[in-house]
Amino acid sequence: TTPLLKGNIKFEQVSFTYPDTGIQALKDVSFEIEQGQFVAVIGRTGSGKSTLANLIMRMYDIDSGRISIDGQSLCQLNLNNYRSQIGFVPQEVFLFSDTIKNNIAFGLDQVTDAEIDNAAQNAAVYHNIVGFEQKFETMLGERGITLSGGQKQRVSIARALIKEPRLLIFDDCLSAVDTRTEEEILRNLGKIMKDKTSILIAHRISTIKNADKIIVLDDGKIIEQGNHEQL
Ligand code: ATP
Repeated sequence: TTPLLKGNIKFEQVSFTYPDTGIQALKDVSFEIEQGQFVAVIGRTGSGKSTLANLIMRMYDIDSGRISIDGQSLCQLNLNNYRSQIGFVPQEVFLFSDTIKNNIAFGLDQVTDAEIDNAAQNAAVYHNIVGFEQKFETMLGERGITLSGGQKQRVSIARALIKEPRLLIFDDCLSAVDTRTEEEILRNLGKIMKDKTSILIAHRISTIKNADKIIVLDDGKIIEQGNHEQL
């Protein structure tokens, strides 16, 4: 039996140093996210936003403090099961020299065309894809076409959404998407992630104004948290 992720996330005085550089990227960070919340993480470049996302994904072990997921210590969870329930969109989009379809379905065994269409719709990239001659069979990369930065980001978002994730983490993956398209994606997320937790690392005020909680990082520390009205 695989426990279903609820999406409660708690950081208690978490500090973390990158082992290779010795840079302490998070210092004494505490916050709590409840199931179903839409959380925005903001802060200047190098303030620790990606690090925070990476720690939720458990890419590294922390120096001190505690991270718990649904009340259980993150280091005790079955990592494969845990990660399989998270839709994580990294800052650096990674696409393969393969069809758009296979890029979206990456890592999944059985995917229907309807599920691929649906993920592409929700990521607001469907119309771009069906505009290509080969549609979802269009090859990317060396033997195919080159997508724009914003299209790449949206294919990467579709890849995360097709998993029907219980937790969604966007690491600054709307940077090359125009404001209107971004609004469309956020509206879609509002529906499909309604009772599930979403964490968006973002820059634009427009992205974060509807967040239940905004976490502001500066130099590895949380300097403010609250919603748009409170901050
Ligand atoms: P940006 O907005 O530019 O993406 P960020 O807020 O996401 O920045 P992080 O990427 O979390 O910031 O970086 C926090 C600190 O950790 C920085 O000083 C950075 O140089 C360092 N750092 C980030 N990733 C690594 C890594 N893989 N190895 C070593 N140090 C890292």
